[in-house]
Amino acid sequence: MTHHVHLGDSGQYFAAAPDQTLLDAGLQAGIALPYGCASGTCGACRCRIRSGSAVEARPNRVLSDAERAAGYALLCQAHAYSDIVLEWQAPAGTPAARPAIWPCRLQERRWLSSDVLEVRLKLPRGDAPFRFLPGQYVDFLLDDGGRRSFSLAAPPTDDTIELHIKITPHGRFGRYIAEQLPDRAMLRFEGPLGAFHLHEAERPTLLVAGGTGFAPIKAMVEDAIQRADQRPMHVFWGARQPEDLYLDALVREWTAHHAHIRYTPVCESVPEDWTGAHGRVHDAVSAHYPDLRGHALYASGPPAMVASIKASALQSGLHPDHLHYDSFDDAHVTWPGTP
Ligand SMILES: Cc1cc2nc3c(=O)[nH]c(=O)nc-3n(C[C@H](O)[C@H](O)[C@H](O)COP(=O)(O)OP(=O)(O)OC[C@H]3O[C@@H](n4cnc5c(N)ncnc54)[C@H](O)[C@@H]3O)c2cc1C
Repeated sequence: MTHHVHLGDSGQYFAAAPDQTLLDAGLQAGIALPYGCASGTCGACRCRIRSGSAVEARPNRVLSDAERAAGYALLCQAHAYSDIVLEWQAPAGTPAARPAIWPCRLQERRWLSSDVLEVRLKLPRGDAPFRFLPGQYVDFLLDDGGRRSFSLAAPPTDDTIELHIKITPHGRFGRYIAEQLPDRAMLRFEGPLGAFHLHEAERPTLLVAGGTGFAPIKAMVEDAIQRADQRPMHVFWGARQPEDLYLDALVREWTAHHAHIRYTPVCESVPEDWTGAHGRVHDAVSAHYPDLRGHALYASGPPAMVASIKASALQSGLHPDHLHYDSFDDAHVTWPGTP
C-alpha cells in the first residue's frame, strides 16, 4: 500500500510505495531531499520522523541508539509503513539548491601543510551561479565512473569554489590533483550535496573539526561572520600535531576580531611549549563542556573521530536534534566498488 510522506508543516508531501525507500520516493516526486552515498553509510539523509512508522531495510552503523530513540532514520534505508510526517526545516537563509552536474576549471593549488592542498576551481559564469549552503559538499565525477567527495571550504561566491584536499600516499584522486592535473584543466562535479549546514538556532554552538574536517566548519564560520550571526561559537580543531592545524592563524584571527568566537586547538603529539589541549578532540570537548544540554554541536572529519564525538556529546546531554555531522568516509567505503 502506498503511503503519504509529509514534509513537516510545509504542506508538501509525496507518495511512497512499500518497496521504495523514502529517499527514492521523494527524489522521484521531485523533492530536493538531502542525501549523499544513498547506501546507508554517510548519514547525509538522516532525518527525524515526527509521526508515523518506517522500517529500515538493514541495520546501519551511522545512527546511535540515542538518535534512533529520538526518532531519527536514514531516508535512503527507510520504507514507509504508515503515513509519515518528517521533521522538516527549510534551511536558514538561502534555500537548499538542487544538485546538478557542473564543469569547473583548475584555477589555483597551494600547499597549506605537508599533506593538505588548497584547491580553487573556477566555475562557468552564467545566469544561475552555483549556490550551496556553507557546510555542504560536492562529488567529483571521475572518467572511470568513480566519485570523490570534498566539502566546500568557503561560502558561495559568483565563480570560484575552495576545497581542502588531504593527499594520502595511495589516494588516487588526491595524488592526481596534486601531481598530474595540468593548470586550467577541466573537471566535473555534482553538487551541492549533504545536509550539513548551520541551523537557525540561538543556542551556543560547538564546531568540532578533525583534520580537513575543518573545511566545512570554515565555510560555516566565515558565512556566519558575513551575516553578523552573533551566536557564541567555540571551534575545536583536532590533529595529530600542531603543523597539521593548517589554518590555525586564520582561526586565531577570527577570535581576535569576534568576541563571540572561541578556539581550542587539540593535538595528540605536542611540543613542550604547547598551550592548546593535549589528546583527542572529543575528550577536550567533554573537559570544557561536561554538560551539553542547551548547546548545538557540529562535527566533521574522520569517521572514528565523528563517532567518538557523537557518543560523548550525547552522553553529556546534547539533544540529538542539535547534533549535526559529516563523516569523511573514504570513497571505497561510501561507494563500495568505486574505482
Ligand atoms: C561528505 C564527505 C566530505 C568529505 N570532505 C572531504 C574534504 O573536504 N577534504 C578531504 O580531504 N576529504 C574529504 N572527504 C574524504 C574523501 O572524500 C575520501 O578520503 C576520498 O576517498 C579521497 O579520495 P582519494 O582518491 O584521494 O583517495 P582514495 O583513493 O579514495 O583512498 C583514500 C584512502 O583509502 C585507502 N583505500 C583506497 N581503497 C581502499 C580499499 N579498497 N580498502 C582499504 N583502503 C583503501 C587509500 O589507501 C587511502 O588511504 C569527504 C568525504 C565525505 C563522505
